[in-house]
Amino acid sequence: MYLFQRSVDLQNWLETVRGHNRKIGFVPTMGALHDGHLSLIRQSAAENSFTVCSIFVNPTQFNDASDLEKYPRTPGNDIELLVGSGCNALFLPTVEEVYPTDLDTSVSVDLHPLDTVMEGAFRPGHFAGVVQVVYRLLQLVQPDQLYMGQKDYQQLTIIREMIRQLELPVKLVMVPIRREPDGLAMSSRNVRLSPAFRAIAPVIHRILQQVKEQVDEKSVSELEAWAMQQLAEAGLRPEYFEIVDGNTLKAISSLSKTKSAVACMAAWAGDIRLIDNMIL
Ligand code: AMP
Repeated sequence: MYLFQRSVDLQNWLETVRGHNRKIGFVPTMGALHDGHLSLIRQSAAENSFTVCSIFVNPTQFNDASDLEKYPRTPGNDIELLVGSGCNALFLPTVEEVYPTDLDTSVSVDLHPLDTVMEGAFRPGHFAGVVQVVYRLLQLVQPDQLYMGQKDYQQLTIIREMIRQLELPVKLVMVPIRREPDGLAMSSRNVRLSPAFRAIAPVIHRILQQVKEQVDEKSVSELEAWAMQQLAEAGLRPEYFEIVDGNTLKAISSLSKTKSAVACMAAWAGDIRLIDNMIL
């Protein structure tokens, strides 16, 4: 596996491997890698000739300075995990490399209302930062296929919309959520959970499953209210639990009238914010 810190070196290498019907797969991450990230790498490696992974803790998507500061950074361990995972090149840029002071990296896309609901309501400005970094990384890597996790369902929907509006020549591939054996969705933030909250957190997956089981019996608002109550009773502080249209992310009134519905939630486990979702 190659390791590039400068975009010019990554691009020089990409020039040598591109072409001849060879596909490039790209997996952008913020590091502190776990098996969820590696499932994206493995899928990309199986479907492309070359796989590029980036690790960049993007400052523009953090609306809380202390969250950015506390975000886990484990580059040595990440490199060890990537070697042997099928990744051909790791891009590990500095902030200056991604956002050179003499370059305008802003992106103009109208995401409304995708970026103002759910995560967007609780993390103002977050998705503008996500769009900015993914666009910039796509410009640098120019992959054929972009791999993103269902774990961040709203993020994926927004990137799909960005690709559509800007007519970017890349195919977006959604990779299912990888979970711990007890159901907790793998996340870089999980290592920061206290033992007590780590024991409670799997309730999120159980609640999502029970919601899925009850879609024929209860209304959307009953299911949402029930799930919020269950999360709170378990000792978490839920921010939202919403059943939305899987494409537009708009609230839905009736499950029977919707082709694709997804239940999305966020809750605090102590001072760690967890998100999860389930396609219904
Ligand atoms: P992050 O490093 O949190 O920005 O995540 C990088 C990519 O990995 C995103 O596309 C995430 O959706 C994806 N990802 C994170 N956790 C998981 C998981 N448990 N299962 C599948 N994909 C994941």
